[in-house]
Order: sequence, then C-alpha cells, then structure tokens
Amino acid sequence: MLVDAERVLVLYCPACELVQNHPISLFTVKRNAPKPIPCTCGFNQGHIERREDAYHLGIFLPSGERVRLRFGVQEFQQMPVLRLLHPETQDELGFFGVPAAVKPLAGHWRGVVALDEEDYVRPEIMERILDYLSDLAAEERITCGCRRPSIGIDVYADKVELICSHCGSAVLIGAATQNDIERVRRIERVTMEPASFSFLDEWLKPFE
Ligand SMILES: [Zn+2]
Ligand SMILES: [Zn+2]
Repeated sequence: MLVDAERVLVLYCPACELVQNHPISLFTVKRNAPKPIPCTCGFNQGHIERREDAYHLGIFLPSGERVRLRFGVQEFQQMPVLRLLHPETQDELGFFGVPAAVKPLAGHWRGVVALDEEDYVRPEIMERILDYLSDLAAEERITCGCRRPSIGIDVYADKVELICSHCGSAVLIGAATQNDIERVRRIERVTMEPASFSFLDEWLKPFE
C-alpha cells in the first residue's frame, strides 16, 4: 500500500514566540530514534519518535514544562488531523496531520499563550484585528518575499507584529483604535519585503 507520508506538525515556539509549521515525513520518523524538531530560530521544540506500539511526541512549553504525548500507530498514521492536548490542563498545544486538514484549524491558532483580556488596551479591537489577520493567514494572503517565508503573528498590548521568522522581516500594525480596524480591513494581502521592518502606515500602498 502506498502511504501518503507528508505531515505537518504545528507547534508554538517558546523561544521566538511564534507558531511554527514543521513539515515531517512519516518515513523519516524511525523506530527508537528520537527525531528532534528544530525551530527556524534554532530552539529545539522537542522530539518525535516511533516505538514498538506507538508514536511519542515530546514538546517544550513556554512554562519550561516538557510534555510527553503518546499516540497509537494507526491513529498517528491515519487520522487526517490530531489536536495535541495537554494531558492535564487540556490546553491546545498544537496540531499534527495531513497539511490540507491541519491548515483550516491551525490558521486560526494563536499558540499556547492564553489571550488574557486584561493584557490589551482595547480587547474588543484586538480581538477583531486578530480575527481578520488570522483569516488572511489561513487563506495564505500573508507572505514574505524571501526564500522560505514562515510568518507568525506576535501580539502586544496595543499592536500586532507580523514576523517572518526566516528572514526577520516585520510589519507592525496598531490594534488599539477604531482607525486601526479600518486600516486593517483595507488589507487584502500582505507581501513582506525580505529582511525589513515597517509600520503598516508606511507600508500600505493603494490597492488596485
Ligand atoms: Zn523558535
Ligand atoms: Zn521572510
């Protein structure tokens, strides 16, 4: 039987604080040989390993905790998408599965950091801006012009930063006023300049 072995593992990296997509071929996960999961920033996010009867996944969390998850061989190889849940808190730690099945779920995922309303100047505005940007990201309308675009969204109290973790490009977007919402709504597509830093205001060009 020919098995489609291409999978993607979506994890939140505690070091660069971005959601990362790791393409993984099931063929490269060997028995009793832990395969490291390096982030583009250099941090090792954990490891994946095939044992006799199961796959084991070790993940480092922002808290410093290391979580071990275990999945039956059939489940791991055949389920289109698996949600990775913390065994105790049931927090969502990431996703694993066939890229086409993972994308719709992971495109909206903001990582392990819980959204605490008190952290934002205007939580209702932040919420709408994040929703809009997540939709753009899910439709692959946020990209970078560099060789290996890997875009994440970093959230602050009053602004959001789109970052390409491959080349370090960043676009800063205000997220505290009604004006900020209007501005973000005008965006149909973001193509970042490789290795550059800009504010949305300067960057916005007229859209055709
Ligand atoms: Zn990282
Ligand atoms: Zn880039």
